[in-house]
Amino acid sequence: MWRTVLRGISANLVQGKRNMSQSCLAGKVAIVTASTDGIGLAAAEALGRRGAHVVVSSRRQANVDRAVTTLQGQDIKVTGTTCNVGKSEDREKLVQMTLDQCGGIDILVSNAAVNPFFGNIMDSTEAVWDKILDVNVKSAFLMTKLVVPHIEKRGGGSVVFVSSVAGYQPMPALGPYSVSKTALLGLTRALAPELAQSNIRVNCVAPGVIKTQFSSMLWKNEDVAEEFMKQTCIKRVGEPEEIGGVIAFLCSKDASYITGETITVTGGMNCRL
Ligand code: NAP
Repeated sequence: MWRTVLRGISANLVQGKRNMSQSCLAGKVAIVTASTDGIGLAAAEALGRRGAHVVVSSRRQANVDRAVTTLQGQDIKVTGTTCNVGKSEDREKLVQMTLDQCGGIDILVSNAAVNPFFGNIMDSTEAVWDKILDVNVKSAFLMTKLVVPHIEKRGGGSVVFVSSVAGYQPMPALGPYSVSKTALLGLTRALAPELAQSNIRVNCVAPGVIKTQFSSMLWKNEDVAEEFMKQTCIKRVGEPEEIGGVIAFLCSKDASYITGETITVTGGMNCRL
């Protein structure tokens, strides 16, 4: 009887070790943009807990400092710098600092987005479109273009874009933002075949309503929140960690045969283009 029990324990250990090794990101360097709060910070935490050295950034130094302290408090290897992804000199500085301090790049999580406009799409101006497309779409591509030669030098890696459920079904009053999020679904599909040749997987996550500052207008107002809850199977808003874990999964070996894919993480909202 004891022999059977021991055999069971040893099989579990082997299985546990295998699971650990497959999700392990030890030795990897991960840049996560807009990562001092919300989903970006949760992604940095999830990647860091799996052993990656994470590089966090956002526009404000005070936010960078706070995020670095938070992650260091969890024994995560972390480097931080300011970076407004809409500025080319900031993007270049982020990549160069990562190379100087971490020696290479394996993973990019492109998470930054802005939404300066609420209202009827026909009232949106050229300046609104420029801002939204620059930060939400162009910077995602330009960051990818900057890191790819360095990921290639490491023999391959992963890029993950953060889109939104709004990319599938434009949200009321958020037309231009929603269109920018649809563009990321296309960017994922456009890049995947080209970068597969370099052993780089390109995937995307489309969150539903997640409890962060960015979406506070959606979940703080009870009436609006109730409307959203009607569309979900799981009757609550999501937590940033529930997106961070999926991003880390996409960057891990567990996802080694997944590319060009968008995973919706919405509590069961209907997502169809
Ligand atoms: P959040 O909690 O408000 O955090 C936003 C982060 O972005 C902060 O760290 C902010 O720091 C940084 N940031 C803002 N503009 C930036 C810029 N131009 N360059 C670099 N960093 C910038 O937001 P979140 O909800 O986690 O949103 C993250 C991503 O998830 C976005 O792409 C958003 O579209 C997407 N998303 C969110 C939800 C949701 O319900 N929350 C749903 C679907 C998709 P600084 O102020 O210091 O720059």
